[in-house]
Amino acid sequence: MTEQEHSRLDPERDLIAYLCAEFGITEHLPIYAGGLGVLAGDHLKTASDLGIPLVAVGLMYREGYFRQTLDGHGAQHAAPDPIEPAGHGLKAVTDARGHDLQIKVPMGDHALTLRVWRFDVGRVPLFLLDADHADNDEAERAITARLYGGGSDNRLFQEIVLGIGAVRCLRALGLAPTVWHMNEGHAAFSALERIREAVAGGLSFGSALELVASRTVFTTHTPVPAGHDVFTHEQMHQWLGDYVGSLETTERRLLALGADHRGSHYFNMTALALRTSRFHNGVSRIHGGVASEAEAHIWPQVPPALNPITYVTNGIHLPSFLAPEWRERLENKVPDWSRRALTTADTDWVGAMSDDDYDGVRRALKRRLLQSLRSRLMEQHRRNGLDEHTANLTVSRLGDDGALVLGFARRFATYKRATLLLSDTARLQRLLGDDQRPTLLVFAGKAHPHDKGGQELIRRLFEVSLQPAFVGRLLVVEGYDIAFARELVQGCDVWLNTPEFPMEASGTSGMKSAVNGGVNASILDGWWAEGFDGENGYGLVPSEHADREARDRAEAQALLDVLERQVQKLWFEDHGAWLRRSRAAMRTLIPAFGTARMLRDYERKLYLPAARHGWRMSERNSRNAVEFKRWKKLVRSQGGGVKVEVVVRNPLEVRVHLNGLHASDLALEITRNGAIEVLKLHEENEDVAAYVAPAGGGRAQLRVLPHHALMAQRYELGCLATMDLGE
Ligand SMILES: *Cc1c(COP(=O)(O)O)cnc(C)c1O
Repeated sequence: MTEQEHSRLDPERDLIAYLCAEFGITEHLPIYAGGLGVLAGDHLKTASDLGIPLVAVGLMYREGYFRQTLDGHGAQHAAPDPIEPAGHGLKAVTDARGHDLQIKVPMGDHALTLRVWRFDVGRVPLFLLDADHADNDEAERAITARLYGGGSDNRLFQEIVLGIGAVRCLRALGLAPTVWHMNEGHAAFSALERIREAVAGGLSFGSALELVASRTVFTTHTPVPAGHDVFTHEQMHQWLGDYVGSLETTERRLLALGADHRGSHYFNMTALALRTSRFHNGVSRIHGGVASEAEAHIWPQVPPALNPITYVTNGIHLPSFLAPEWRERLENKVPDWSRRALTTADTDWVGAMSDDDYDGVRRALKRRLLQSLRSRLMEQHRRNGLDEHTANLTVSRLGDDGALVLGFARRFATYKRATLLLSDTARLQRLLGDDQRPTLLVFAGKAHPHDKGGQELIRRLFEVSLQPAFVGRLLVVEGYDIAFARELVQGCDVWLNTPEFPMEASGTSGMKSAVNGGVNASILDGWWAEGFDGENGYGLVPSEHADREARDRAEAQALLDVLERQVQKLWFEDHGAWLRRSRAAMRTLIPAFGTARMLRDYERKLYLPAARHGWRMSERNSRNAVEFKRWKKLVRSQGGGVKVEVVVRNPLEVRVHLNGLHASDLALEITRNGAIEVLKLHEENEDVAAYVAPAGGGRAQLRVLPHHALMAQRYELGCLATMDLGE
């Protein structure tokens, strides 16, 4: 094999199956709620651009994720945005005889029938599973009608459809993925179905699990509890009890795969996903650490910092979010820009533009946004019967392309704290009220129909937007979707984000703004903690107040300080310096946060290792998986009896009583001054092995780990013993 083949997936041999509950590909296909969906859509587009072999499976939400309107009181109304397959570019998938393809999935004591739609994202096919089939009863046909719709039972049904259905769908199409990527825990039942297949092929449940996990990647996307589905054992028994029989295991053992940090009473889809995959990641450096902490219970005794959850920082699909004006310039300088990861050399042209030229583009983008805001607001007011005088006031600053426009648009989830700046309305009024320094603050976004807290944030902002001090200065605009997001990120001068640290995971709307020359002024969480370099925006250090109110107040004041003393000052008094900041954002952040960079990271850190590991486990008719499982069992039964005895402290000399294991089954290491040193096996006889480490200073901790060549990760099996060695 050449180096090239080693570092890239091979379309002849590899195929990634990418499973996700939502996909934000275009505003015309409303099967996304927010950042997760748009990220998944961008993943597919980029796989197509780069020629990465990938197929995707999701759910067909017939009602569409809703059309948002705000009434005259700021209450959100959610109207269906129905998807008519033919009109939306979806094709019914047929079987070899030309009939509609039918997929069956278990649902309690019977089967649910699914049909399948295909949507092509460039070269990447996306298959959407749809329970609206004549074989199902009325209630069942509505299972996939709404994104994250219905109660907990319906969520379980949707996840059975997505997980089990995805595997059966791809098999029916004759596809044989070599790596399975479960994007969020929603898709984790796919691992069970693949285990069922391997069991049907003759493996034990345990060996099948090893085989399946070896080629599975799992990405967790949020520390927010609502993002992690948990079902009761009763629900699992009622709806999947019969299915468990086909896995050749007991219900108890299956349920144990979903036990979480609270113990074994619930079935947690994130825990299932972690136990059925060997490659796991969070979506930014900080979030990787947060996820490692939150999920540390899966690897008891392993310090969270060492557990196998890594991270790949999210990105955005540049061709989808760059304004045409910027796209054209990039295309001229870098003809292959959309087909590879970019470097900083690819954005040199940003610095070479004259101030007039650069500012001219920025103003053109803003004019487009302001025009759109005007027509969106007028439509909103007309429908709500707002008086003409007030309506005109709300759009009074929208003709001024010299105004400073601050934007905040994303899902209205409470942890994102959209109303943070309202905590000091007097100061906010000063910021927006000066006619010599015309400044606009624009809000948009949907709250999930079940999320009353999120809807209350919208209502509160809306109320303020009609107060005399804020009318025309603080705008709340309905109808957020990908198209509106594109206008906002391209036209706003400043992009705000105020998440509660460290809940943001990544965030991507700020990236979309930055690559268009928007200046982020945000809490240093998620992607921004990696993107901010001191000159390409404004970074706010999270407050360390333990008290939430004190923290919110401190962070609101810090943000208002930045907006007043730095953003407005530069914008209105030293516009050249402002433009330098804006250009720095484009120059540095276009290369770092494109999804081409992200896909290459996935390929290198997760897909290729999973592909290789999967091949290894399946070699010799899966004998490696069987052997590995047997060894794991041995380690689990004997490992508890392994005893460590320190003979000399410095230089360290230890004896290990192997309790029937061999020295080759173990690895010993010490952590000292933050570094890990592996101990050398000095001698092994009978049931005792002696190890030595070089002399060293500082507090040291000794760990005994199970070790086997077929492990995917050094700490995969946790740790048999730890010992504090003192200074
Ligand atoms: C990019 C995008 C998001 C993500 O926004 P965050 O700031 O990451 O929360 C949400 N919705 C839409 C429509 C988007 O385009």
